[in-house]
Amino acid sequence: MGVVIGIDLGTTNSCVAYLEAGKPKVIPNLEGQRTTPSVVSLTSSGETLIGSLALRQAVTNPENTVLAIKRLIGKKYDSKEAKETEKKMPYKLAGADNGDVMVVVNSEMISPQEVSSLILGYLKECAESYLEQDVEEAVITVPANFNDHERKATKDAAKICGLKVLRVINEPTSACLAYGLEAKKNAIAAVYDLGGGTFDITLMEISDGVFHVLATNGNSYLGGEDFDNRIVDWIMEEFKKENNVDLSKNKLARQRIKEAAERAKQALSFSMESKIHLPFIFSDKSGPMHIQLSLTRAKLEDLTSDLISATFPFIEQTLKDSKLTPRDIDQVILVGGQTRMPKIKEMIANFFGKKPIEDINPEEIVALGAAVQSGIIEGKTDESTLLLDVTPLSLGIETENDTFVKIIERNTTIPTRRSRVFTTVKHNQKRVRVHVLQGESSKASDNISLAEFNLVGIYAAPAGVPQISVTFEIDADGIVKVSAKDEDSGRIQKIEVKPSSGLSSEQIEKIIQKTQEEGGEEEEEGIEQAEEKEEVEETEEEEKEE
Ligand code: AMP
Repeated sequence: MGVVIGIDLGTTNSCVAYLEAGKPKVIPNLEGQRTTPSVVSLTSSGETLIGSLALRQAVTNPENTVLAIKRLIGKKYDSKEAKETEKKMPYKLAGADNGDVMVVVNSEMISPQEVSSLILGYLKECAESYLEQDVEEAVITVPANFNDHERKATKDAAKICGLKVLRVINEPTSACLAYGLEAKKNAIAAVYDLGGGTFDITLMEISDGVFHVLATNGNSYLGGEDFDNRIVDWIMEEFKKENNVDLSKNKLARQRIKEAAERAKQALSFSMESKIHLPFIFSDKSGPMHIQLSLTRAKLEDLTSDLISATFPFIEQTLKDSKLTPRDIDQVILVGGQTRMPKIKEMIANFFGKKPIEDINPEEIVALGAAVQSGIIEGKTDESTLLLDVTPLSLGIETENDTFVKIIERNTTIPTRRSRVFTTVKHNQKRVRVHVLQGESSKASDNISLAEFNLVGIYAAPAGVPQISVTFEIDADGIVKVSAKDEDSGRIQKIEVKPSSGLSSEQIEKIIQKTQEEGGEEEEEGIEQAEEKEEVEETEEEEKEE
């Protein structure tokens, strides 16, 4: 086994780390930076730019520069999130045949998995160059509230760039792993993670090297970018007041203002005032116009206080789920660049009645934790270190009248397996449609649709007589498998799985082939074949039993 790398595939920035002599270490990228902007750009000349290079030319090529792809991975085109992204981002979106969201770059439709695979591929290349060896395996982190589609899509992205994912772990869990390596004491920790595009809060129990997630909650559409946008709106308003010019539809100006807004925001974590100077932002008959403004820390706090406040109901929910109070929390860990904002630290400290730990770099801790997890898999660390995780969302099926019946409740420790018996609603019903959902609403249609199963060949019987037991299994990566059995005959019914989302293995294979043709990895086929074989065996088994 070669080196297994740990990857934090972030909304704004990504980071890669590995374990050296029992300690996690960040691998710098090819430009020597410790984190890489999660940005991909396709130029009109057919060149693919990744990271800082892509970010730097975003102003001149905004429509073909894909930022914050993590917000779209595993999402549908008609989802609220895709619509929101479409409004805020300069690039265009479209829907695939199965309804998945796609990004339109240079008039071509690209899946979020492919865009993410380019970022992962770049990080793989950085690790290979730094470690001077091939790297084929990784531990990847995802937000704690990622659903099954989003986790699977992340794994597919890795597969496309030739990385085998040994484990998918929740970001806050990963942060605790990095932290727990140094301080193995009994404690309950709150991990508050506010990065570029997502917010998670997780309560963890750490005892003698065992990490147990008590509860997780969050909002995958709340992050530093929203803070930047508040400043952008403020700058545009000020500019309009002064010049009577609306810059909101001017893409180039918007991009420049956004970059300046983020810089000012970051500077205000260390100073009380920041100057925003953007010369020649617009010009008309009257001549060129410039932006010259001063933003104070107090004004920034005023513009963003509701965004910070919006994180607290999630904290309260996790405490409620765990039957804990803020005073029961021994340690507060801050993750994500946005937590550098002093107001956030202050509000968190006030809420929990204690100061958060500040000795770990909030942008690197998740990747460092993933490296620790890779070390556990490789057997490089203390064998007693065990990782127990929970499922962030409840899983179940749709029954009559748009009702959602939960089979696995959220916050159940994974891996797990639960069954529940269902029956028919009509006399002599031969087939049952089982709609698998993930979410918390009692209304089925308000939850996320994962798949549909047709249980066929049920014996003719009065309604309510057949006993169909549906079994849900969640593996250590949080990925869901569902099977069904007719209890009367003891036979496993043939189920037709119609995944309603994600890339099919044929589509992934096609993308890999395309990458290979363009000079990509060659060993990818081995991974694909092994998995295909597994699927074939499962089908054969089912058929035999019939
Ligand atoms: P991450 O996703 O952890 O890389 O965090 C990225 C977010 O952190 C971006 O929105 C950055 O603007 C923000 N960020 C980075 N440094 C600072 C800082 N010094 N103060 C406030 N926000 C920051």
